[in-house]
Amino acid sequence: MRIANLKNRLTVVIDGEAVDVHTASGGRFGPDPQSVYDDWEAFMDWTHTADFSSSSSFDVGGLGSPAPRPRQIFAIGLNYVNHAKESGLPVPSVPMVFTKFASSITGPSGTIELSSDSVDWEVELVAVIGAEARNVSEADAWKHVAGLTVGQDISDRAVQLEGTSPQFSLGKSFEKYAPMGPWLVTVDEFENPDDLRVSCLKGKESVQDSRTSDLVFSVPQLVSYLSKVVTLFPGDVIFTGTPEGVGLGRSPQIYLVEGDTLTTTIEGIGSMTHQFVSPVKMELPAREHSEGILESHV
Ligand code: ZN
Repeated sequence: MRIANLKNRLTVVIDGEAVDVHTASGGRFGPDPQSVYDDWEAFMDWTHTADFSSSSSFDVGGLGSPAPRPRQIFAIGLNYVNHAKESGLPVPSVPMVFTKFASSITGPSGTIELSSDSVDWEVELVAVIGAEARNVSEADAWKHVAGLTVGQDISDRAVQLEGTSPQFSLGKSFEKYAPMGPWLVTVDEFENPDDLRVSCLKGKESVQDSRTSDLVFSVPQLVSYLSKVVTLFPGDVIFTGTPEGVGLGRSPQIYLVEGDTLTTTIEGIGSMTHQFVSPVKMELPAREHSEGILESHV
């Protein structure tokens, strides 16, 4: 099952066509895409008998993040051996966890403003929680995952690495630096959800191409580990880390520039495409005689 956010409405995508869940369920499920995770088991039960005959074609430009307002976002650093190597850092002995603040979430297409001249790409498999998880074992962890989607952990390296202690959470949380989509694919759709090809193109150039079987800490290990510290709530999001091939790890380093396009793809899920633009330079308004008053208030 493919679960989408189409123009902020909970949508099921079947054979490339969209079904509005609120309408098709006669109001049983609300239109808010985030709310489905709080009622996940009932929703999945409903999909097994639901009438999807009202499906219609749709514009993929209308797709948003399949988890637009998670209570928590977890992100994992250095979770592929070769990415740790290219970063010049040891492979972590326990998951290295940070957050991307929820205000950085965006959908699977559109433009993203560059915050500096050191903005980097990171294709990542993203897991969305479907059932509250507290102290779960690795063996039970997949049962707590609603599905998987494609993520980009866009990273401003200048902000991330500024100061004596790195600022991962801030450097990766500029507006639209957490794209997700094009939809959530439920775990049952994958032959092996622990072995998916993840890749990223910058323009036509392949910059990342790896498999999630190379994750240092797999999705079940991450869910289990995190759930021993915090409660994972339905709709929470885990960015599982990026493989080698980021701009930071190159010699010379390469970063995104205005006009670049990133295509981010995961096998069995789909692709996202984003264009990068320079920030709009605002002309400062002409100051009037109240200058002294304004300054005394700042
Ligand atoms: Zn990352």
